[in-house]
Amino acid sequence: MNTEQVFHDALERVREIGEDAGVGHEVIESLLHPKAMLKASLPVRMDDGSTQYFTGYRCRYNDILGPTKGGIRFHPEVNQFEVQALALWMSIKTAVVGLPYGGAKGGICVHPKELSPMEIERLSRAYVRAMADFIGPDVDIPAPDVYTNARIMGWMMDEYEAIKRSRAPAVITGKPIRLGGSLGREEATGRGAYLCTVELAKKQNLDPKGTTVVLQGFGNAGYHIASLLHQDGYKIIAVSDSQGGIYSKDGFDVESIYKEKQEHKRMRAVYCDDSVCSLVDHDVITNEEILELECDILVPAALEGVIDKHNAGNIKAKYIVEVANGPILSDADDILAERRITVVPDVLANAGGVTVSYFEWVQNRSGYSWTLEEVRARLKEVMIRACDEVWKISENEQRTLRSASYALAFRRIGEAVMAHGTREYFQDGRAA
Ligand code: NAD
Repeated sequence: MNTEQVFHDALERVREIGEDAGVGHEVIESLLHPKAMLKASLPVRMDDGSTQYFTGYRCRYNDILGPTKGGIRFHPEVNQFEVQALALWMSIKTAVVGLPYGGAKGGICVHPKELSPMEIERLSRAYVRAMADFIGPDVDIPAPDVYTNARIMGWMMDEYEAIKRSRAPAVITGKPIRLGGSLGREEATGRGAYLCTVELAKKQNLDPKGTTVVLQGFGNAGYHIASLLHQDGYKIIAVSDSQGGIYSKDGFDVESIYKEKQEHKRMRAVYCDDSVCSLVDHDVITNEEILELECDILVPAALEGVIDKHNAGNIKAKYIVEVANGPILSDADDILAERRITVVPDVLANAGGVTVSYFEWVQNRSGYSWTLEEVRARLKEVMIRACDEVWKISENEQRTLRSASYALAFRRIGEAVMAHGTREYFQDGRAA
């Protein structure tokens, strides 16, 4: 499915779940129209002296609950529709966890691995020059996403401050700690997803020791959830990156694989004893095969649209925790539900990142830094409360966890829409 379809698929889900949950027409309608989209050409001086033009996007989708918030992605498949779909999901996600934010997303269509670090810096700054009047601490606050990181956020803040001639750390989150970042932001998405998985395990009486986990994507979000689950005794039997994956029925040592990937930029099935790493028995698998492995919990943690009606029937996991945004398309939802595969949806499972981004923004605005323990404790409180609320709606209203999460978000957004006055209010003649 192409990304234009992914966006229309996302809109369809909003319509379907909204109507099913009895959410008013005006609330659904407010989520079908992106508020604003800026597309800009970004000229960048390359290391060889030539100038290359990249296309950058930023979509502010819905801001009824507060300034818009969402990451910036550097990827060759970034386009307007992908950015819009991701911005819509952000609007739902911030409402699920009860943050005073709307949703946004941005990105640049680029193959970041083909650029030098200096070219990446110039590209990041060019993006902010183009977007400087579209973002801002009270308007729209970006953060990292696929193939962007703390250093890039730091460059972007720096460029914004140079343009505005004023310090403005709250313009962007996910920054390096010394540049106003928050402790615990780097691990936050993975930790939030881990907390959701622990809640799932409690409700399903899963014993971590016997529970097998498969992960597609081993970047920031994927690594941190894998590491925390591994520490609890879950068996991580397969992992992958953009080049493909590795599988071992005996499970991998997550830290060894991470260390190898950091040092040699490759995914290898190793076990490290201090600095000595040796290869362990494994099979090499593709990114398609990894999704269909026999396991208890499948964690898609890379890109959207990887599970659709064509492969949903082949998924053998009992549970799916969506760490990536939009890994399951709506045409697969019913198939998975019929097959009794429980899905913890992205708008809940990966909300830890935006939650700690919110903490970072609060710290920047108050000029006061929290300890790592405070950040982790507050994140836990937000995630567990959101999980409880979602599970309660799911049980009381016989909804899947995705439908329950959307219903919760729509009701919160609905209260804000109604506070402005809906058709019923004005027709009542009470407007005067
Ligand atoms: P990242 O850049 O740190 O890692 C991305 C990972 O995906 C890498 O391991 C990469 O090799 C892998 N990958 C890329 N293309 C792939 C492909 N075609 N098949 C399989 N793997 C592929 O990015 P991240 O921040 O970990 O983001 C991963 C997902 O989590 C994305 O969907 C992102 O939107 C979502 N997410 C991230 C955050 C965050 O705070 N970083 C927050 C919420 C959601």
